[in-house]
Parts: sequence; C-alpha cells; structure tokens
Amino acid sequence: MVTVNRNYLKLPGSYLFSTIAKKVNIFQEENPQASVIRLGIGDVTQPLAPAIIDSLHRSVDEMGHRETFRGYAPDLGYDFLRDAIAKNDYRDRGCDISADEIFVSDGAKSDSGNIQEIFGTDNKVAVCDPVYPVYVDTNVMAGRTGAYSQEKGCFDGVIYMPCTADNGFMPEFPEEVPDLIYLCFPNNPTGGAITKERLQEWVDYANRYGCVIIYDAAYEAYISQEGIPHSIYECEGARTCAIELRSFSKNAGFTGVRLGFTVVPKDLVRDGVQLHRLWARRHGTKFNGAPYIVQRAGESVYSPEGKQQLAQQVAYYMRNARVIHDGLQDAGYSVYGGVDAPYIWLAVPNGMSSWEFFDHLLSQAHVVGTPGSGFGANGEGYFRLTAFSTYENTVEAVERMKKM
Ligand SMILES: *Cc1c(COP(=O)(O)O)cnc(C)c1O
Repeated sequence: MVTVNRNYLKLPGSYLFSTIAKKVNIFQEENPQASVIRLGIGDVTQPLAPAIIDSLHRSVDEMGHRETFRGYAPDLGYDFLRDAIAKNDYRDRGCDISADEIFVSDGAKSDSGNIQEIFGTDNKVAVCDPVYPVYVDTNVMAGRTGAYSQEKGCFDGVIYMPCTADNGFMPEFPEEVPDLIYLCFPNNPTGGAITKERLQEWVDYANRYGCVIIYDAAYEAYISQEGIPHSIYECEGARTCAIELRSFSKNAGFTGVRLGFTVVPKDLVRDGVQLHRLWARRHGTKFNGAPYIVQRAGESVYSPEGKQQLAQQVAYYMRNARVIHDGLQDAGYSVYGGVDAPYIWLAVPNGMSSWEFFDHLLSQAHVVGTPGSGFGANGEGYFRLTAFSTYENTVEAVERMKKM
C-alpha cells in the first residue's frame, strides 16, 4: 500500500502569496477603476542589464555551432564562473574561499531548501521569527519538526528566535543550543542588516557549540553602510562552522533566469564527515548543472560593465527604498530596514493586525504589501513593503499612504 510523506500534512494550508493574490483579484473585480500598486511580492522589475543581454546572445550563438555547442554542464559549475565568484565575491573581500568550495545552482531557494538533506533528521533547527518560510517548511517536510500549533503560529520542535523592535530585529542566542542555525542578512522580511561584530559572535557561538550556520546572503548587493559584512566568511572562524547561500536574483535580476550558488568550506566537518563531500555527492546525484548560457550570463555580472550597470540597478531600487522609508517616517509611521536591504518593515498603526492593515491599505490607498504575520508569529503587527517597483509607482504609493 502506498503511503505518503505525512510530514507534508503538518504544513498549514493557504500559502501567503496566493491569499494575497486572491484578495487583490477580488478587490480589482469590485473596483475595476482602481489602479493598484503592488509593493508586495519580492520580485525585481528592471530588465536585465545590457552586459548580461550581450553575454546571453553570445552564448546562445555558441550553442548553434558544432564547435562551440555545450551539453551537460559540470555538475558543480563551470570553472569560468566558479573562478569569477571566488575572486570577486570572496578573495577581493579578504575571504579565504577557493573556487572548488563553490557549488553553482539554479538559485538560492532550492539550495536553502535542499541543504537540510545532508543533515540527520534528529538535528534541532533554529530560525529567526519572522523568517523566509523556505527554511522552516523544508525542515517540516523532512520530518525535523513536530506539529504546527495554530494558536501559537509555530511548529513544535523548532527553536524560534524572535526579532522585534525590542531587540532591533536581531536574533539573540536561544536558551536551548540548536544544531542548525538559519540566518539571513540583510534580512528578508525585516530589511535589517547585521554588523560584523555581531555576526562574529554568532560564528564564535557556532564554533563553541558545534552548530552549523546556514547563512543566506541573497541581499548582500544592497548593503550601503560600512561595517556590514557582505559574507559570513569575513568573520574569523566561519570556515569551520558556516555554509553560505548566494543568488543572482536580487543583485542582477535573475529571478526568471535562475542562478545561484552555495559555499561549503572544506574545513567544515561535523560528525566526523566533511560537509563539502556530502553536498558534492548530493549535487552530483540530484542536479545536472545550471545551463551554460545562464552561467555565462552570471560571469558577465563580474565584468567591469556588468558591475557598473548592476550598481545602477541596485541604486534605482534603493532610491525607492528611501522614498518609502523617509515618506512613511514623515507620515508618522515607525519604519525599519530599507538602508541595506530593499525591504521596509513598518509597525502597523492603531493596534491593527497585519491582515487588517493589508485590507485597509488595499481599500484606502490601493496599495498591496505583505502582512508581517505571514512570516511568523513575531511578524504580527508589522507589514513589509518592497522597493522593487518603479520609481513613479513607489512615489505614488507613498503619496497615497500619506493621505490615508
Ligand atoms: C529572493 C530570495 C532568495 C533567492 O532566491 P532564488 O531562488 O535565488 O531566486 C533567497 N533567499 C531569500 C531570503 C530571498 O528573499
């Protein structure tokens, strides 16, 4: 008799973004005149930069000639890309990471969901609350948690580290020592960034207790302040306790192109086993490589033209972030984030719940955002707006919110 993976049944029903889409559709049907501005979903809107398009055209042409055609890519990634990553993202920042510690993939969502596979199911997982849902849900599917409590808004057996205004949205060391610690900085959804000193304390903690930190740095390109680490490997000792996830989605607009990578240092050993070996085995068995064309496009991100064009693209989004942050602050809201990340996290006014504010904002200002409670129990009372819209729509959305 066939049985199913009943761990999946622990996942609570409706997915955040489909609920939002449903509500927006209903509103739009009832108010066909209203021009709705979407500052909700974290997807980019600017087209791919010219340097990337040029590279795509060139490699597409290569695929059309017998001499330059490429089939399966090496399953850990082409050397030209791994070398460019090791040099630009790591060595140039003073991080001791070599090309053969980089695993090229189709994005950080799959890596952040798959990485848990190389760990035993008895590991205790710690996450920030609010959190990017993938970390928790994939551990639920793997059976690393207990049941979901509707009333508490969390899973049994998971260590939640509250991130609220009281602690400046920075996780504190939990009472119970975890095995796996997921950290994401700059943070989605709160938009907060961790200082190098604070991240060093986490690295020291993980080395002292033998934890592994899974560090999601998908938003490092948005860091604007000094003293904020772009990689966890800027911290001393991170090679023996940290795995880093990176993506080309937010820095280069690859959300529809798909490219990312994971760094597993060879010095990272747990349970007598090099984790690099396990991730290489997993990657080799279950993944057949990111497309050649896309890896060439990724390489162009590190070209002088690519770097210059992408810095402009990030600056465009960060101007939007400033418009939202400063505009809503002027209007009397308590706003956070938006300085080193394309997310603004605001405290919902007048004791409303996150979803009440969602409905209020949609009906009064025709603006869509994301209820903080969708990211965890401690997101209740907060609301996320993204800087990924156009400048014009961002300005318009803030003007409408000021008049609410
Ligand atoms: C967008 C995002 C990613 C990147 O996902 P891709 O699969 O590379 O597009 C990873 N982590 C977080 C927290 C994100 O918000």
